[in-house]
Amino acid sequence: MQSLSAFRKALLGWYERHKRDLPWRETRNAYHIWVSEIMLQQTRVAAVIPYYERFLARFPDPPSLAAAPEADVLAAWAGLGYYSRARNLHRAAAAITEAGEFPRAFDEIRALAGVGDYTAAAIASIAFDLPHAVLDGNVMRVLSRLDNDFSDIAAGKTRRRFQQRAQQLLHPSQPAAYNQAIMELGATVCLPKDPQCLLCPVSEWCAARRNGTQPQLPVKGRRQAPVKVERTVLIIERGGRLLVWLRNHDSAKLKGFYELPDPERLPSAKPGRPVGEFRHSMTNHQYRFKVHRATVKHVPEGFLWVARTDLSRLPVSTTTRKALACAAGFDSRPA
Ligand code: SF4
Repeated sequence: MQSLSAFRKALLGWYERHKRDLPWRETRNAYHIWVSEIMLQQTRVAAVIPYYERFLARFPDPPSLAAAPEADVLAAWAGLGYYSRARNLHRAAAAITEAGEFPRAFDEIRALAGVGDYTAAAIASIAFDLPHAVLDGNVMRVLSRLDNDFSDIAAGKTRRRFQQRAQQLLHPSQPAAYNQAIMELGATVCLPKDPQCLLCPVSEWCAARRNGTQPQLPVKGRRQAPVKVERTVLIIERGGRLLVWLRNHDSAKLKGFYELPDPERLPSAKPGRPVGEFRHSMTNHQYRFKVHRATVKHVPEGFLWVARTDLSRLPVSTTTRKALACAAGFDSRPA
């Protein structure tokens, strides 16, 4: 690329003028940046903001997070999904507390539970000004277009080459601003379907724009067809208490979460009227949940009654929340 310093200057100048006002951009506190980066994995910015603020109010530093029971951490995370992120934060907070301070070197940050190359580079650059380039989906898209590169970005070797390219472009003395600027460009201007090239500060360096190939980039390996799954959940209520079961520590997913019963887990339940249905997507699975009121005569082992008012402070999955919202919506309909 010609005039690398002019490219960096144009990108950084644009970022200074147009960056979104986000709470984690007001701090260089490594703990705060770490929490925001973990939350932002697989979750949209707008959804993360209230969780970030509540989480830091509840757990203001690594020792307070490390000292909290896992159920409290999961409850604070409930609704964000991908709960292994919360468990890893909790585990890593214990390691940081034991070490006495947040690690300051890239390899030490990378060694924390749940931290991969991208997150380590983001924390190292933003909190400690270390020159490590970030490479996430937004940056891959921008790089593929800048270089008009039709390699499959799902391939490991492309990723490694893009990582080197990102490192070449990184501003060596302003890595925090540069990394955030290129991610911001991908998130707000160099959009997947409709890149805003007329507003782009680096359009004169963009080979895809010169070739008119922006909409074809990036190239990503063929996606698998979604798997459609139908499920039923049961709302069994007695005197203001709901029947739930607790996922124990043998559960492959969502350990420690309270769930509503379903006909397979509670075959003795007698399903009553339907109160609605909802959809939920996870990776390439598309679920359709039917929600029914139900009754049960004898409650088998493994189930427990929980007051509805207590559910808000317990870890419950997004699908349980959606099912309860369906029932609440049904109950409030005019007769
Ligand atoms: S010119 Fe268009 S395609 Fe190229 S980097 Fe800018 S927004 Fe993306």
